Amino acid sequence: MDTCKACGSELIRVGKKWVCSNEECSFQVVISQNSWFKDLVKESNGWNEINFNDVPSVISNQYKRLHKLIRNGEVYGAQIKVKDIYEVELKFLILIILSEAFCDDSKKQLYSSIIYNLLDGNPSLGVWLSLGKQILTLNSDDKDPIYIILKSLIDLDNTDKIVFWRNSNIGHGALMPIETEELHISLSEKIKGILSNFVKNQNLYSKIRLQVKIKDKFIDLNGLKPDIGNNRSSVELFVTTRQNRFKLIPLIQFYENSIYFFDSYMNKKYLVSYLEYTSNIKRKTHDKMLSNMFSSVKNLLNLDLVNIKADEGLFIEERIKKVDEILEPTTFFKYDFLRRKIQDCINPLLASCGAASGTV
Ligand SMILES: [Zn+2]
Repeated sequence: MDTCKACGSELIRVGKKWVCSNEECSFQVVISQNSWFKDLVKESNGWNEINFNDVPSVISNQYKRLHKLIRNGEVYGAQIKVKDIYEVELKFLILIILSEAFCDDSKKQLYSSIIYNLLDGNPSLGVWLSLGKQILTLNSDDKDPIYIILKSLIDLDNTDKIVFWRNSNIGHGALMPIETEELHISLSEKIKGILSNFVKNQNLYSKIRLQVKIKDKFIDLNGLKPDIGNNRSSVELFVTTRQNRFKLIPLIQFYENSIYFFDSYMNKKYLVSYLEYTSNIKRKTHDKMLSNMFSSVKNLLNLDLVNIKADEGLFIEERIKKVDEILEPTTFFKYDFLRRKIQDCINPLLASCGAASGTV
């Protein structure tokens, strides 16, 4: 709606109403509650088929949030959430697959180019998608739930173009005006598409058991609020599928009751950035396993041969120690030298101030 139904003048948005810009005219109308949007929360769209408790919490929480955003009429929030969900599902599966390379040399060999691409730079969603496609060309295990879901996500992008849609709608910070029919249609489609794909996959998801190990017991991180008692500090995270169980460190980490995904690796600084998707918290840290993996896959791929020295391992060790000191200011004595320097600079100033004030 953009013109007045009574006089044809332009309408101006005032709070939750459209008001006629013509001072002589008293026409106004309440902006419609996005009924098209709220329809998406109907149980018949697939919500009633979800069993949140059977699915790893890191995934089920995303759908719960999407449901809440739709119920509250948060059109833009839901638009961003659809992109988040696709990203979380895709990364979750890729990171699990690549984690195996940290404990299995044949997997490291197989995925070396993918690991290299993941660690070399700051991968965009498009890069993640292409890494997923490459994984499937190297190893398409059609009995493993992880690979089957990964394939369905790539198929979903082929039909729904979620990554392209995300880049053209959200990527540059500009969102489509809420009134446009194009937004209604495209957002409804994406929500229905991603939801039905999830409903179709949830049985497979229930076979991917994300677990923490506490006192020799493995506890599933399923459902919306997995109960792991008071073990809030960092505990080890595992995945169990079929007969296979392996650690997810360092690509997926459990820290202070939240799950962090690998986000990017700054190889010049040996810094890894992790992202937690429920509250969008980023953590930066160093990780020796990742820096060793990066050198190792470079070796496997024969990259950087000129720069590889026999003592590179030692060199890295030394650099990591330095980064350590910079990154972990848990104890202040590490900065004593800095404090002393500042004090040395300030002291003469303080002295001159004191002298100055003394003369007044
Ligand atoms: Zn009017």
